[in-house]
Amino acid sequence: MNKLVSVVIPAFNEAESLVVIIDRLEKVFNNTNYDVEFILVDDGSKDKTLSILKTMAKVKTNLFYIEFSRNFGHQLALKAGLDKANGDCVISLDADLQHPPELIIDMLAKWEEGYDVVYTRRQEDKTLPYRKRKSSIWFYKLLNALSSIDIEQGTADFRLMDRKVVDVFRDFEENEPFVRGLVKWMGFQQVAIDYLPSKRYAGSSKYNLKKMMHFALHGVTSFSIRPLYTAVYLGFIFSVLSILYVPYVLYAFCNHIEVDGWASTIMTIVFFGGLQLIILGIIGIYIGKMFMQTKNRPNYIIKSTNLY
Ligand code: UDP
Ligand code: MG
Repeated sequence: MNKLVSVVIPAFNEAESLVVIIDRLEKVFNNTNYDVEFILVDDGSKDKTLSILKTMAKVKTNLFYIEFSRNFGHQLALKAGLDKANGDCVISLDADLQHPPELIIDMLAKWEEGYDVVYTRRQEDKTLPYRKRKSSIWFYKLLNALSSIDIEQGTADFRLMDRKVVDVFRDFEENEPFVRGLVKWMGFQQVAIDYLPSKRYAGSSKYNLKKMMHFALHGVTSFSIRPLYTAVYLGFIFSVLSILYVPYVLYAFCNHIEVDGWASTIMTIVFFGGLQLIILGIIGIYIGKMFMQTKNRPNYIIKSTNLY
């Protein structure tokens, strides 16, 4: 019996890429002794993504689709695919062909060597817009500085996971899973492979600056409460600094020195007003997370699927 490999692909408005990526993947697997199943998650696409998937599923018996009731986001689409995958290992990649399917051969080889997780590291792509490159570098810097896990630069959701890892992951009921962090956090035997990303085949990136900001903040706050400690330390530092200011105030008072305190007063108010709002915001994010989690809602809703 051949081993079964599941390939999970989240797709949000990726109609143009689907036929091509399945074709490339099939070519890769034709040269191996593995059976393969494709699980494509339509994350509430507005274009023809779903109808193309349905058409493909009619002719390919190993292609399955999951239709979400609306857009739930990349991470949850990925989670849904992993939840339903049956393979001895599961490989996830993006639909836009930025993750070269041919790398899967190397990933499978590492898996056969005994690794439980084979993740990939994107090498810097000079053709990517400057903003995207820099924001990605800062994203990982911030993430690692502020949280207790170390995620390497350029690790996206292009990875292979062994059955036993996927089984553990299935039981995670986090409201907004941050998949790359959770996988790293789980441990097991992990190994990295480097690759050069390709250009997006069609369509455009679904992550704009605002979404990336949210993703970064979310990544940090779902992994550690270190920002809360940072807030306490900041408060502490400024309290000490303000105590140092007391002798000067007393001196000025005793010597009846008249001060034009307008500028410094306003600056102080503005500065500390901002600082307090930021810290309140940080606390708010954590409370918000607890609020969402206590509601215990399903993380995603499947509208239709051709999975058994
Ligand atoms: N995606 C998704 N739901 C979303 C946004 C993105 O399923 O709400 C999918 C998208 O179709 C792609 C993958 O997630 O397969 C990565 O998205 P994208 O390529 O836009 O991100 P980037 O590579 O620009 O970081
Ligand atoms: Mg992409």
